Amino acid sequence: VMADKNRTVHRIPVSASMAGRYRKGYPLLERELLGRELPQGDLFDLVDPQGHFVARGYLGNQNRGAGWVLTRDAGTFPDRDMFRQRILAAAEARKRFFESQDLTGCFRLFNGEGDGIGGLTLDWYGGFLLISWYSEGILSFQSAVLEALKELPGVRGVYQKFRFEPVPEGFREGLVLGEPGGFPILMKENGVNLSVHLDDGPMTGFFPDQRDVRQAVRERFSQGRRVLNAFSYTGAFSVFAALGGATGTVSVDLARRSLEMTRTNFLANGIDPQGQEIVVEDIFRYLRYAGKKGLRFGLIILDPPSFARSGKKTFSVQKDFSGLMGQAFKLLEPEGILIVSSNSARLSRSRMESMLRQAADDTGTSGSLLEVFRLPEDYRTDPAYPEGNYLKVLVWEKSREAGK
Ligand code: SAH
Repeated sequence: VMADKNRTVHRIPVSASMAGRYRKGYPLLERELLGRELPQGDLFDLVDPQGHFVARGYLGNQNRGAGWVLTRDAGTFPDRDMFRQRILAAAEARKRFFESQDLTGCFRLFNGEGDGIGGLTLDWYGGFLLISWYSEGILSFQSAVLEALKELPGVRGVYQKFRFEPVPEGFREGLVLGEPGGFPILMKENGVNLSVHLDDGPMTGFFPDQRDVRQAVRERFSQGRRVLNAFSYTGAFSVFAALGGATGTVSVDLARRSLEMTRTNFLANGIDPQGQEIVVEDIFRYLRYAGKKGLRFGLIILDPPSFARSGKKTFSVQKDFSGLMGQAFKLLEPEGILIVSSNSARLSRSRMESMLRQAADDTGTSGSLLEVFRLPEDYRTDPAYPEGNYLKVLVWEKSREAGK
């Protein structure tokens, strides 16, 4: 079958129970449903055992799944109009963010399946848009997306990044529309300045999804405390902690680049970096050193990547996070706060909480879970796809007379 703009539609038969699942709104095309590899960007129709239409979507291989459902209406095809409507509706839903840009200049404008198109995210950075393409399939809709973006008011430039490999011939990361930004530039987040670049590697300088956590660090968890920010990257948490009255901050990251970027972020907020510690080192080494020296902290933030390599050693949240939490507990003062964070979709919130309780048990630390943060409201999620609700941030308070 040919449909709309020469996109082939492949019929994919599914079992009655699978059909039920997709009818209830499950958006991800499971790879097992495909008998063979099909061309990226083609369309698919899921069909139940009675031959009835269930759902339609596009084919796109990403780390999870083989494509995304776009509609459960047999008469609807993913055309320019669909992309336009969904993107403009997403922008409308972020009206509050557009209107308060003097306070916060950066937010997620379109969050994949949460806004009706899996595999595509759009981030707003003060007039500059960053498109992340998660598959070759979704990239085949590039012109429809760009056309819709031209209709948004206040767009100065549009950048793109690829979250899949290999990048297809003829495409490259960087500016695709409008004027270049002259990065790095300063962004505001709740009135705090953070340095951002959209044209240099996969990360942009800070993670907007931690906005509420940073604000809580400044407003509630830093006053009068010495702060250890582990996996500090550009020091965003340290800046908020210093502004929130921390008596000192230590930012530890393995990457050399973190030093200069962290200094820049302190300076951008009138904080003398000389008064803060910025350590370029493997966190496990630093924790051993801190243990030997008897250093203690009133707030420790652990925000590791899901997986990392350091020399010959590897770190994975699945196997190493609990041990890391335990080491942090040992350095935590009585009534101190430990914040642990993970964006790994493979680590559930409940599993992370058991890791934390296990670490507390193992180190004889008493205390309680104070608070849990999930994604902020601009990171809209699809209730039928809880895996997309990836961020978990647990805040633990050690009791006054806590042990060891
Ligand atoms: N917490 C940061 C984001 C962390 S990104 C923020 O809020 O912006 C993950 C960081 O972990 C990267 O900067 C990476 O360089 C660092 N990293 C990875 N393995 C590490 C290790 N073993 N020790 C210290 N830092 C590490």
